[in-house]
Amino acid sequence: MKNAILITIGDEILSGNTIDTNSNFIARELKSIGISVKQIFTISDELESIKSCLKTALETADLVIATGGLGPTRDDKTKKAFAEFFNDNLVLDEETYQHLSKYLQKRKRQHLLELNVSQAEVLSKAKVFQNEYGTAPCQMIDDNGKLVFSLPGVPYEVKPLIKDKIIPYLKESFEMDSILTRIVSVVNIPESILAERISDWEDQLPTHISLSYLPIGNRVKLRITASGKDKSILEKEVEHQIQVLLKIIDDHVIATYEDKIEKILGEILTEKKLSISTAESCTGGEISKLITSVSGSSNYFLGGIVTYATQKKVTILKVSKESLAKHTVVSEEVALEMARGGQQLFGTDICLSTTGVAGPNKGEDGKDVGTVYYAIRVGNMEEVGHLYLPHLERTDFMNFVAQRILQGLVAILVRANE
Ligand code: ATP
Ligand code: MG
Repeated sequence: MKNAILITIGDEILSGNTIDTNSNFIARELKSIGISVKQIFTISDELESIKSCLKTALETADLVIATGGLGPTRDDKTKKAFAEFFNDNLVLDEETYQHLSKYLQKRKRQHLLELNVSQAEVLSKAKVFQNEYGTAPCQMIDDNGKLVFSLPGVPYEVKPLIKDKIIPYLKESFEMDSILTRIVSVVNIPESILAERISDWEDQLPTHISLSYLPIGNRVKLRITASGKDKSILEKEVEHQIQVLLKIIDDHVIATYEDKIEKILGEILTEKKLSISTAESCTGGEISKLITSVSGSSNYFLGGIVTYATQKKVTILKVSKESLAKHTVVSEEVALEMARGGQQLFGTDICLSTTGVAGPNKGEDGKDVGTVYYAIRVGNMEEVGHLYLPHLERTDFMNFVAQRILQGLVAILVRANE
């Protein structure tokens, strides 16, 4: 197994202004080809920091990937640090210059070519990977068999460079095993019972195929990971194992390819030809946002409404004043009435509703921050749920509740098959 070290360069990350998403992305991509990341360094945009970090990294890693600090601005020092560290000099690279020139031409910024010309300078020993989405190329130095990459920092430039260029290159040069991962999502069965039911299946898995359990809400994700030389053989083997597994727990499986709950739901709604709407309060539209993030959702999502003010729950969703007076706005009864009202309003088979206190301040009716009631209405069937999430910050709270309600709905729709 090859080892990698990632280096994130930039003062804006150290100061907390930018969240380092590059390392997270790169680590996952490397994992997918069997390279594990042992350390991630975040360092300042300074020559000495960059050089000393390269030295430390190369003492142990087979592969080093650095991002950031490549722009034409004076605060970007990475290229100079690389040149000094590898005892190399910068030379104007004709291919990179042509690439840069075309890049700027396409964007009608040809006049910037002279300003950006330093971007076409690379280390004389470097192998260059052209950047299709920005002006700084990616460079790689082969240091006695250890590979050291320098990439720009901008995430939308990093992603395609890694995915389309560096991963294929690494696979070839390291003769890596392929890694294949599939997630089988299972609902309506507790983890311990699931484990018992599938233990014989688990025991007969060949050693190059492994299984892990990831419980999330009322779903258990079974992650099946296989490694081997030939990806297409792995695909067949894993598919076969999943087919055997399905014979044992078929009723509970909601997806064997897709992982995101909103996509799984989309497939089920499409298959069952069911329409859906939302009547939200404390989630502020997060549920409709998740549902509509799936392409093709217009086939089943008819609309959603955010009735934030109590008065609007009454006038638009026909929530009764009696229920409000008796149970307060954050209650099971109001959640149910909102779902009924939303279902009427949009004329859908299904409606999802939420009412709760996202915080940080207490709700108008004095309910504790983090209290949520949600209702799921499918035809005439309805189910209400309660969550208490005082530890979550507003946006995380909204997302958690939205994920949870979609999972609840998926569990109901699958149960309907049984
Ligand atoms: P540029 O040519 O735009 O200057 P660069 O290679 O110099 O690119 P940086 O200056 O380090 O890259 O970063 C550019 C921007 O990319 C930063 O302002 C920051 O928003 C974002 N960025 C940099 N590093 C990361 C990272 N590790 N994770 C997420 N975003 C990052
Ligand atoms: Mg920069």
